[in-house]
Amino acid sequence: MKDFNHDSARTVDEAIELLKNNQGRAKLIAGGTDLLGELKDKVLPTYPEALVNIKTIPDMDYIKEESGGLKIGALTKLREIVTSPLVQESYNILALAAHSVGSPQIRNMGTIGGNLCQDTRCWYYRYPHQIGGRIVCRRKGDRGPCLAVKGDNRYHAIMGGKKCFAVCPSDTATALVALGATMKIVGPGGDRTIPVGNFYNPLGNDLCVDEIVTEIQVPRPSVKAKQNFLKFTLRKPIDFAIVSVASVIRVEAGVCRDASIALGAVAPAPIRATAAEEMIKEKIIDDAIAESAAEMAVTGAKPLSMNAYKVEITKTLVKRAILS
Ligand SMILES: Cc1cc2nc3c(=O)[nH]c(=O)nc-3n(C[C@H](O)[C@H](O)[C@H](O)COP(=O)(O)OP(=O)(O)OC[C@H]3O[C@@H](n4cnc5c(N)ncnc54)[C@H](O)[C@@H]3O)c2cc1C
Ligand code: SF4
Repeated sequence: MKDFNHDSARTVDEAIELLKNNQGRAKLIAGGTDLLGELKDKVLPTYPEALVNIKTIPDMDYIKEESGGLKIGALTKLREIVTSPLVQESYNILALAAHSVGSPQIRNMGTIGGNLCQDTRCWYYRYPHQIGGRIVCRRKGDRGPCLAVKGDNRYHAIMGGKKCFAVCPSDTATALVALGATMKIVGPGGDRTIPVGNFYNPLGNDLCVDEIVTEIQVPRPSVKAKQNFLKFTLRKPIDFAIVSVASVIRVEAGVCRDASIALGAVAPAPIRATAAEEMIKEKIIDDAIAESAAEMAVTGAKPLSMNAYKVEITKTLVKRAILS
C-alpha cells in the first residue's frame, strides 16, 4: 500500500467537510472490506491521499420501522441485517440477499452503505496495477475501447452496457430495487433521496466526491406478498452473483395482484423486469405464464461473445421466482 492520511469523522458534516477539503483525493472508508483490497492492489484510477473513516460517526447504525417503512443507517453491518427479526419478518429478501454476501467475516465488517457503494468486480478493472500495469478501462477515464467487449466477458452485462459492460456486484441493491427502496445522500448542499435503482450509472454511481450515503429507506411490502431472492453462483460459499433475482409477488386466490421483480448482475444497475411483471399481473400463475414472463424478462438482452448463458440463467431464475 501507499501512504495515506487517515481521518476519523465524528459527524456526517465533518465527513463531508473532510471530503470537500480533499477535492476528490479522499475516499470514505466504512468496513473496508472492498476498499482495502483495492488499495493493496492499487486498482483505483488515482490513489487516494486520505481516507475518511466514518465508523466513528455515532447513530448511523440502526434498523427501525417508522411511518410505514424500514429505515437502515448506512453503517449497519450486513450481519445485523441478516439477523434482524424485523427484516426477516417483513423485508425477508433483504435478509436473504445480505446473507448471500461473501463470508461471515465480510458480513461482520461490511456495511450496507459500503455494499451499495462497492466498486465493480470487472476483472480488467481489478487487475492489480503492480503485476501487469494498468489495463485500458473507460471506468478509469481511459479513452480506448473497453477490453471486455472483445476479451473474456463471461461475467459481464447482458443488458444496458454502453461504454462499460461491468455489472453491479451488490446483492443488497437487487433486493432493495425489488422492494422499491430509496437512499438518502447528504452533501455540502443538503440532502437528497433517490431510488436505489437510479443510484447506478454505466460508469459507476451517482455520488459526488463530497457526498455520503446516510440511510436506506424501504416501504413496507404487503403482508400478503411472497418474497424471494435467488442467486446463481459458480461456488456455493463466497461468490458474487452470476445472476440474481429478487421478487415481491402478491397472489390472491391464485391470481397475481401485484409483482415486483428485480434482476441483479445482468446490467450496470439492478433492473426491474417490468415486462415480466406486467405479463403476470391479473393472471392465474401457472407454469406456462411463468415461462412466458421469464422470456419477457430478457427482452432486449444483448449478450456479449461469452455470456449468452446468463440469459438462460436469468430466465430460469425468473420462472422459479414466479412459481415460488
Ligand atoms: C471475498 C469477498 C466476497 C464478496 N462477496 C460479495 C457478494 O457475494 N455479494 C456482494 O454484494 N458483495 C460481496 N462482496 C463485497 C462486500 O459486500 C463489500 O466489500 C462490503 O459490503 C462493503 O462494505 P464495507 O463497509 O466494507 O465498504 P468499504 O470497503 O469500507 O467501502 C466500499 C466503497 O463504498 C464507499 N462507501 C462506504 N460507505 C459509504 C457511505 N456510507 N457513503 C458513500 N460511500 C461509501 C467507500 O468509499 C468505498 O468506495 C465481497 C467482498 C469480498 C472481499
Ligand atoms: S467492462 Fe467497464 S470496468 Fe471492465 S474494462 Fe470495460 S470499461 Fe473497464
